[in-house]
Amino acid sequence: MDLQQALEPSRDRDWLLVEQSYDPLRESSIESRFAVSNGFLGVRGAREISRGPTWVSWSHTLRWASWPRTYVAGLFDTPNIEPPVPALVPVADWLRVRVLVNGRALRHHNGDSLHHQRILDMRRGVMLTEWQQRDLCGIVVKVKALRLVSMADRALGLQLVRLEVEQSNAEITVDARFDESGSGLDPEHLEQDFGVWRTEQSDKSLAMACAASLQLNDTELSPQALGPFRWSWSWTSAPGQVASFRRLIAVARDDSPAGNPGKQARDALDRAERIGWRGVLAAHEAAWAERWRLCDLEIKGDDASERALRFAMYHLNSAANPADERVSIGARALSGDGYLGHVFWDTEIYVLPFYIATWPEAARALLMYRYHTLPGARAKAARMGWRGAMYAWESTDTGDETTPEQLTGPTGELIQVLCGTQEQHITADVAYAVWQYWEATGDDTFMIDAGAEILLESARFWASRASQEADDKCHIRGVIGPDEYHENIDDNAYTNVMARWNIRRGIEAAAALRDRWPDRWGELSKQLDLDDSELQQWAQVADSLFTGYNPDSGLFEQFAGFFDLEEVDLLRYADRTMPLDVLLGRERTQRSQVVKQADVVALLALLPEECDARARLANFRFYEQRCGHGSSLSRGMHAFVAARLGDMDLATRYFRETAATDLADTSDGSAGGIHIAALGGLWQAAVFGFAGLSLRPDALGVDPHLPPAWKRFGFNVHWRGRVVRILIDQAADEISATLVTGGPMCFALRGQRHILQPGNTLCLHAAGSLAAC
Ligand code: BGC
Ligand code: BGC
Repeated sequence: MDLQQALEPSRDRDWLLVEQSYDPLRESSIESRFAVSNGFLGVRGAREISRGPTWVSWSHTLRWASWPRTYVAGLFDTPNIEPPVPALVPVADWLRVRVLVNGRALRHHNGDSLHHQRILDMRRGVMLTEWQQRDLCGIVVKVKALRLVSMADRALGLQLVRLEVEQSNAEITVDARFDESGSGLDPEHLEQDFGVWRTEQSDKSLAMACAASLQLNDTELSPQALGPFRWSWSWTSAPGQVASFRRLIAVARDDSPAGNPGKQARDALDRAERIGWRGVLAAHEAAWAERWRLCDLEIKGDDASERALRFAMYHLNSAANPADERVSIGARALSGDGYLGHVFWDTEIYVLPFYIATWPEAARALLMYRYHTLPGARAKAARMGWRGAMYAWESTDTGDETTPEQLTGPTGELIQVLCGTQEQHITADVAYAVWQYWEATGDDTFMIDAGAEILLESARFWASRASQEADDKCHIRGVIGPDEYHENIDDNAYTNVMARWNIRRGIEAAAALRDRWPDRWGELSKQLDLDDSELQQWAQVADSLFTGYNPDSGLFEQFAGFFDLEEVDLLRYADRTMPLDVLLGRERTQRSQVVKQADVVALLALLPEECDARARLANFRFYEQRCGHGSSLSRGMHAFVAARLGDMDLATRYFRETAATDLADTSDGSAGGIHIAALGGLWQAAVFGFAGLSLRPDALGVDPHLPPAWKRFGFNVHWRGRVVRILIDQAADEISATLVTGGPMCFALRGQRHILQPGNTLCLHAAGSLAAC
């Protein structure tokens, strides 16, 4: 492959996201959308040449424009920020290139931009830039660039730049340097092409090694070395001359105070240099091709939805690293500073299902992060006077609670944040994820070594957290549910039903261990000091846990007293441009039935079997009308549940709105990074909602309700060591399942079971009976 070919985008434009404009006011959200990442390194899509302004200044305001950032997963520190909580620390910006023409920097502002576009090539996992600029003296420079962080060898990054100057006799200088200005690290050791830095407080270290070179046609030019990570090449332009610039970087992180990741970074760079940029690019593209093969998805009849799902899967595939069990995925993945890199329930409830169904190794690593952070969760429970493990609402590398205690509100006032102590459902969410993973993959080793301990310790937490009261019921008081507009509430239905489910799965895990792996049970029960009488107490708590369910109306009361709050007709605010809590004010919102996001609706998605079909519909209708969708997590969950209930108009509308979250930056929030939970929610709405996929241990099932425009919907899914291709042909009223790899299995269509044989395709009429293939 030559450089020209490498810089060409994929032919099929369906795989490309193209941005032609350069608008400082939209720049930072474009940079999030165009981020490249491999779960270890994440690089925002800031332009490498002519960086442009970092902020836009009108007379009285400052707004970030370009926000060039490279993040390294797990590199947390508590920098000097307010409030002082751990944050993901940006590292040196390694992509910067300055082009000087006759001594003057080529910049967007100086001269005319003849052509400018950025392309996110999702198929190849690269960002491409094309820029043609005529400077103030009429000299035209054409630049094409590529960047990637390798999906095949996660330590590596590659930048390629091709540069042509139309006129001869211009003095050209390419100045390539690392920009450390925004980095939060102290340099410890710097050489020309190698450096080690340390975080200020957390004592982690980071090493970067780099090889930069420039060729003029086929001749290698020697750089002027201007100091650590600064090189410069100069020449006089001539017709037909092409300059090719390459920069390979290798990055390593070490979390131990005495550690030195230098050797790791140098070794990675050696590996890269041995295969050259072509080898690095080819391995990266092959790794992406494999990812796309495993999560392949097609929709006939609705190109926009297919593209939106592809964009979601691009970022989901970019966010995970199956090789690192010490990190998880933050709310904005590695694409922006929003939420400081912190990990929420977003990971387990919104994004993990994608990995379970398409990339089980990544799902396992994410759950192992929760296993390794059990000590932090145990300490939190003990600190708050409870037993077992209570996960942090927001966590970083240690598992300690990192939710800030206060924030500034929309009008500059200080608001106390109670989520760190009261938003407790996350503990059940983690347990839920462990169980889903186990059921769908059959990974007993994970269950024995790690999953069971999470289930037991979380069940123990809930059993101590719920208190038996005079009505003979157990209650959980003083919490925040997924609807964060209401604080310090009692008996949140989502929390309580998930807690009850968590306790019961804890008891089931204990029984499974005792039965199937008695040695491990002996060891673990001893280590946790867990005996039969405690298990009985758990069962009593679960059986008497108050859930707020009314069998007559079929409704869950979202929390005690919710039905007595003021009803607000949300249709009157349909054209609003700001969140409802801001419009109504915090206090009125708290006194009303306005719900921030899917709460009871999320429960219907996660545990549909907790109530019958009539109650599911009643709850959805009741709560959907009261939801303000004040979080990007909300609409995808509504699409999921609406689809399962067969309300395709509503499901389709919520699906489209979720798809627009980052593609159109509908809530003006993408500047801080893409919303990975909304992207995971979009995928779930399609696969669990529209296709009605279920991954039970005894059968893989579908129960489709497709949007009318989707003539055909096909996707691959992993299930218990197998890969199955599902094709729902709405136009022909047929559904087929092909067992691509793995042994015979049970496939269920709308509850009717069939045996699927290796290499075979089962063709079924939509109603469930066999059809001829
Ligand atoms: C979120 C909370 C979070 C808090 C502090 C709020 O905007 O809704 O979930 O804990 O910010 O990060
Ligand atoms: C949502 C939370 C979410 C957090 C991070 C908040 O606005 O209410 O549910 O975990 O954002 O995405």
